[in-house]
Amino acid sequence: MANKNGFTLWLTGLSGAGKSTLALDLKNKLLERGVEIELLDGDEVRTNLSKGLGFSKEDRDTNIRRIGYVSRLLARNGVGVISAAISPYREVRDEVRAETEKDGAAFIEVFVKCPIDVLAQRDVKGLYKKALAGEIKEFTGVSDPYEEPLGPEITVETDRETVDESARKIIAGLERLGLLNESGKLGDLNYNLAAGRR
Ligand code: ADP
Repeated sequence: MANKNGFTLWLTGLSGAGKSTLALDLKNKLLERGVEIELLDGDEVRTNLSKGLGFSKEDRDTNIRRIGYVSRLLARNGVGVISAAISPYREVRDEVRAETEKDGAAFIEVFVKCPIDVLAQRDVKGLYKKALAGEIKEFTGVSDPYEEPLGPEITVETDRETVDESARKIIAGLERLGLLNESGKLGDLNYNLAAGRR
């Protein structure tokens, strides 16, 4: 398939780690640089594309496969896609990666990392308190698994970095991988799979 230079920036991490916040900030920063961007936010997808799905492993996998499918269609048509969903299972993330790369687009896994005690303190959505009190079954990181990425292209540590710092780190990663040229537009895709993973 002709390579139209799209990419998928796949943010994965626990609830409250900063995926949605970073996705929005990145979207604005990349739009300013003239990159065509589409955002797929996990919470939003669950209210439309994945409405009715729950939090069993099967439903989570289905949700991620759907997001992966849409992001792949966009990326192979030259769009820069930002996905912001917990995506707790390694195998399905890797599956989405393989499908994306098969279509000639780049897949950049970004681990949005934050220790659980900081998340429990932040408790953006008030869910950790309940989960830690045993009131929520299947809560990722507390009563449900989260499999950390083994070789993410980029890792941000949101307990130590400001939103702006984390977003800049991700953009620097895109530059390093040759996905943005100097004027900021999507570059000629000289994305190097071998050099890609750090
Ligand atoms: P998620 O989408 O992963 O569930 P949210 O983006 O909804 O998480 O919430 C993350 C919270 O953490 C926000 O209140 C945000 O302001 C805060 N935060 C602090 N530092 C960072 C950072 N470096 N990157 C992203 N979010 C951060």
